[in-house]
Amino acid sequence: MAQYDVIIIGSGPGGYVCAIRCAQLGLKTAVVEGRETLGGTCLNVGCIPSKAMLHATHSLHEAEHNFAKMGLKGKSPSVDWKQMLAYKDDVIGQNTKGIEFLFKKNKVDWIKGWGSIPEAGKVKVGDDTHNAKHIIIASGSDSANVPGAEVEIDEKVIVTSTGALELASIPKTMVVVGGGVIGLELGSVYARLGTDVTVIEYLDAITPGQDAEVAKQFQRLLQKQGLKFITGAGVSKVEAKGGKATVNYALRKNDSQHELKADTVLVATGRKPHTEGLGLDGLGIKMTKRGQIAVDDGYATSVEGIYAIGDVIEGPMLAHKAEDEGMALAEILAGQAGHVNYDVIPGVIYTHPEVASVGMTEEQLKEEGRDYKVGKFSFMGNGRAKANFAGDGFVKMLADAKTDRILGCHVIGPMAGDLIHEVCVAMEFGAAAEDLARTCHAHPTYSEAMREAALACGDGAIHA
Ligand SMILES: Cc1cc2nc3c(=O)[nH]c(=O)nc-3n(C[C@H](O)[C@H](O)[C@H](O)COP(=O)(O)OP(=O)(O)OC[C@H]3O[C@@H](n4cnc5c(N)ncnc54)[C@H](O)[C@@H]3O)c2cc1C
Repeated sequence: MAQYDVIIIGSGPGGYVCAIRCAQLGLKTAVVEGRETLGGTCLNVGCIPSKAMLHATHSLHEAEHNFAKMGLKGKSPSVDWKQMLAYKDDVIGQNTKGIEFLFKKNKVDWIKGWGSIPEAGKVKVGDDTHNAKHIIIASGSDSANVPGAEVEIDEKVIVTSTGALELASIPKTMVVVGGGVIGLELGSVYARLGTDVTVIEYLDAITPGQDAEVAKQFQRLLQKQGLKFITGAGVSKVEAKGGKATVNYALRKNDSQHELKADTVLVATGRKPHTEGLGLDGLGIKMTKRGQIAVDDGYATSVEGIYAIGDVIEGPMLAHKAEDEGMALAEILAGQAGHVNYDVIPGVIYTHPEVASVGMTEEQLKEEGRDYKVGKFSFMGNGRAKANFAGDGFVKMLADAKTDRILGCHVIGPMAGDLIHEVCVAMEFGAAAEDLARTCHAHPTYSEAMREAALACGDGAIHA
């Protein structure tokens, strides 16, 4: 067996990015992956396929709702569901093959199969044992179940996000359990396809942790698109019978019991770290209370020579967070100073409009007793947005009241997921809102709304 500098278990965005960076820095590297294809949850059943379905159904929405307004007349496209799924699978294939190509280009070995760690320095895959100076666990996460209900998921009638990305047909009715990012993205996909979608959320507002003003506007806009919401409700039972599902829930305010029937139930109550089968108990690796692998600032576990990154450790379960940790750890192992700034990790919801945020929310600033100012700008005042039927939403910039340093930014509007990055860069450089406000922005672009919100932190926006 070859002796490696690094063996990584898992080829998701954490594992594959880490492997490529390790190889680029001169470390002999292998990745163990049990799936048929590389790329992990993100490329196979997560970020990429969900965005393909959002793109396809958003195009349909545009054709149905906005084409005629622009003088583009004629029948709206009809949906060929099999072809839409084939398009999504093709997108997955292109991306996963792309990682295979990058592995070959960078001389990263793919050890196919499920790996476990019998002892530090060794990874067992099937009957083979491979040796490595450093072992990195990047085994990702799995869909979580409904807390306290332990629903039997068949991935046909009662599905996780994985099943929701390959339903046999478009359901007439769908209940989504959980008003978080995944539930709302996939709920939007089906609502645009004509499914009657009801979202049940335990808390009183959707997208927990989001800036409250943004969350409120977001729910309002999704309701306008036909999604129904039941908030402050705990689901106690979900059962499938004869190809249909029944959902039982109780409203938290008065404990009243209710029932809903649906063709499909999507359980989207979050994700849990995937740690089974790795042999962690035998190694005595310390875990957090929430079942994640505990690591120090350099991603080292409690066992020397074993590290962990991505969804399997603490922090937001996001592909780019996993990627950044992968790069940072590769640099640390190569003797460099790898580092992730957890204060500047953007979060995006790829619905229409998109929702994006970075840094602190207004609620967090209030809780910390910080002296802050708010600069807001509506996309209604943005010429490009008005032309593109994208005037719904706003930018909210939060800056320190005295120093004007940007503390956070929350956007609901067109291309919010791309716009947010100018604030990420600004925050990395410790910029003030005025720095952003004084930067020339091309006209007509959505990004002018970012500048206007920054101007609103000072003497005022121009187009408000
Ligand atoms: C529907 C959906 C949509 C999402 N959309 C987004 C989005 O738009 N943006 C975003 O940032 N995040 C999104 N996410 C979250 C994102 O997919 C994860 O945060 C990300 O994939 C985590 O990367 P990772 O490398 O930690 O693990 P994963 O991507 O989960 O990869 C882990 C890999 O390890 C493999 N593995 C596990 N155990 C073993 C073993 N013992 N031996 C061999 N292989 C093993 C698994 O097969 C898997 O391929 C989405 C998730 C879902 C489910």
